[in-house]
Amino acid sequence: MKRILITGAAGFLGSHLCDKFIAEGYHVLGMDNLITGDLNNIDHLFKNKNFEFYHHDVSKFVHVSGKLDYILHFASPASPIDYLKIPIQTLKVGSLGTHNLLGLAKEKNARILIASTSEVYGDPLVHPQTEEYYGNVNTIGPRGVYDEAKRFQESITMAYHRFHGLETRIVRIFNTYGPRMRLNDGRVIPAFIGQALRGEDLTVFGEGNQTRSFCYVDDQVDGIYRLLLSEYAEPVNIGNPHEITIKDFAEEIIKLTGTDQKIVYKPLPKDDPMQRQPDITRAKEILGWEPKVNRAEGMKITYDYFKGLSEEDLRKSEH
Ligand code: NAD
Ligand code: UDP
Repeated sequence: MKRILITGAAGFLGSHLCDKFIAEGYHVLGMDNLITGDLNNIDHLFKNKNFEFYHHDVSKFVHVSGKLDYILHFASPASPIDYLKIPIQTLKVGSLGTHNLLGLAKEKNARILIASTSEVYGDPLVHPQTEEYYGNVNTIGPRGVYDEAKRFQESITMAYHRFHGLETRIVRIFNTYGPRMRLNDGRVIPAFIGQALRGEDLTVFGEGNQTRSFCYVDDQVDGIYRLLLSEYAEPVNIGNPHEITIKDFAEEIIKLTGTDQKIVYKPLPKDDPMQRQPDITRAKEILGWEPKVNRAEGMKITYDYFKGLSEEDLRKSEH
């Protein structure tokens, strides 16, 4: 049986990846320090004999016993409000944490995939973003702690690949959504749905002309799975190219939730990227991957998930 270590296992993407690899017949070792994650996301796995959980901060030395075939490094705060609240831990998990996991991969002779991000492109001057684009990041801006940690993560990963011959994979993830996002993580989808469920107006930052392209979690997990098993070491964008302005998206959510909320406008956070859309030519050619779930279907599933949460969860998520 193949053994895989998944860091960030109690988070949104990490927990879905644990489910995927268990379903594919792997033995999964989940690791998380719960700084932004929640054990409820993996509660259903604790009774499974093919799942083990380690409560550990991966910015500190990481060791697991036994053989390891694969590592997925997904531990990192991922939402702007999270990484602004814990900037040093964000820098550490992307840099020291990645170094620790590359070292572990080398010791175990395991293949490692690291979770990079569309944020390596910063506020992009090339549209849509191809993997060849070097990006436009403000190193000293508030988002720099996340963006630069992820850029360093890619550099050290390629160095281990070139210098030590380690088998490495880099996924550049574009905005992904679905069940198990934290209602109060500040990202736009839980923010808007939480507001709609509490009967509050939807807060659009800036004039709402900035764009994003939202990928449903099952598509994202499928892309990551294919990349891990591919023979391709260069970065690959995984995301849904269907782009929308944040203002139009707020209107879509008002329609979806059938509420009579209005849109209210708040200041645009510093360095908020104005446009973002993945070019997925590489993923199509190399992985035979493209997204299958459109926004209407994905948002319906996500809304139903959030609607099922308790009153207490909803209150906790108020800003
Ligand atoms: P999340 O916050 O739900 O999950 C991250 C998990 O990592 C949490 O469970 C958290 O407790 C854990 N963690 C953080 N620091 C840790 C540390 N030092 N040691 C151990 N565990 C630690 O976020 P997510 O959306 O699931 O993101 C997962 C990964 O995917 C991140 O690396 C993120 O940068 C990347 N990513 C996500 C998106 C997206 O749209 N969701 C986009 C781009 C990149
Ligand atoms: N946004 C918004 N209102 C909110 C939360 C976010 O208008 O309550 C905007 C945010 O400014 C950004 C977009 O929605 O332009 C996506 O934000 P998110 O934090 O989800 O992810 P990002 O892509 O910026 O990392």
